[in-house]
Amino acid sequence: MILPNATLGVLGGGQLGRMFTLAAYSMGYRVVVLDPDPHSPAGLIADQHIKANYRDHAALQMLGDECAAVTTEFENVPAESLEYLEKFCAVRPNAEAVRIAQDRIREKTFVQDHGLATAAFAAIYEDADIVAAIETLTAPLLMKTASLGYDGKGQVQVNTLAEARSAFEQLGNAACVLEEMVDLEREISVILARSINGQTSVYPVGENRHVNGILDTTIVPATIDATLGEQAIDMATRLADTMDYCGILAVEFFCTRQDELLINELATRPHNSGHYTVDACTTSQFEQQVRMMCGLPPADTQMLSPVVMTNLLGDIWKDGEPDWRQVLNEPQAHLHLYGKKEARPGRKMGHINCLAADVEQALATTARIRSALSV
Ligand code: AMP
Repeated sequence: MILPNATLGVLGGGQLGRMFTLAAYSMGYRVVVLDPDPHSPAGLIADQHIKANYRDHAALQMLGDECAAVTTEFENVPAESLEYLEKFCAVRPNAEAVRIAQDRIREKTFVQDHGLATAAFAAIYEDADIVAAIETLTAPLLMKTASLGYDGKGQVQVNTLAEARSAFEQLGNAACVLEEMVDLEREISVILARSINGQTSVYPVGENRHVNGILDTTIVPATIDATLGEQAIDMATRLADTMDYCGILAVEFFCTRQDELLINELATRPHNSGHYTVDACTTSQFEQQVRMMCGLPPADTQMLSPVVMTNLLGDIWKDGEPDWRQVLNEPQAHLHLYGKKEARPGRKMGHINCLAADVEQALATTARIRSALSV
């Protein structure tokens, strides 16, 4: 077990790295962040910020020598870098898990190979793959880059062979998945913590609403049938067991109108849809991340209050700093801002967790705040 006063490392200095750092600090650990951006939200508050590229071996070795364990805050850290780091310290989750999650083709194939469902898709590497895929898939379709896409970026909706070809070109002829669009009833996610010796704790299922491909709101408890929730938890747990996973795993699901559960994506780290855990659960997903990388058992994931999490995107900074009194005057609303210097449209700048006796009241408070902030 790695105990307080030890130094922990995180690859990536975004908001997830920042909230990880805050959790590690409150438990008495030191934190080193590696991120090339001098203004990264986690780098700004870490004990040490190594400003270097994720492929820089000297920087990785410095991080590995300094830390008892290293984790990541986003999938796009090259798996080779994690493999290299494994020579110097514990890396949790390991390179293999991140390698699966950072490529949509590998991810969906992995899910299907383990008997779980995804939306129907085809891997696209070249024009001949598009021609073959159009024959078998039913439009409307989405062309998505296999790697480096997030928040709906790197995705184009297509209906015909000509449109699919032009989307592939628009996405730089990089490897893609061409995927059937699902008739969505709703989207949900399961977040779990799995320890080095396989102990697993699962958070309550969150219901996610997206706007323009970006998560907008998470509602917990989800308004779903209990059996569907149990099925989603079972699917996520099975995937984590199969990988002998160590860390926080988030699994995003599509629920179809036919009550079918399809796995959309895996994230090998805390997830935006788990931000509610910070204010509404006995243990946050970030404390849990610290515990998992340190070889500690997962703590209790019990929900203490119904909650609605809503993201704050850069769009609401268009007339300057929003009037935060509109949030801070609400006794059951908790404001979280990430300290990002520049507010751009679509950029995640912060979020609000509204607690209440039930989801309807939490949604009402959220709606009041959103209207006051022009979200
Ligand atoms: P992704 O980057 O794959 O998570 O996609 C972002 C969001 O776009 C999802 O959360 C959905 O709201 C929507 N989306 C992505 N793929 C599909 C699909 N096959 N069918 C319907 N909606 C989708």
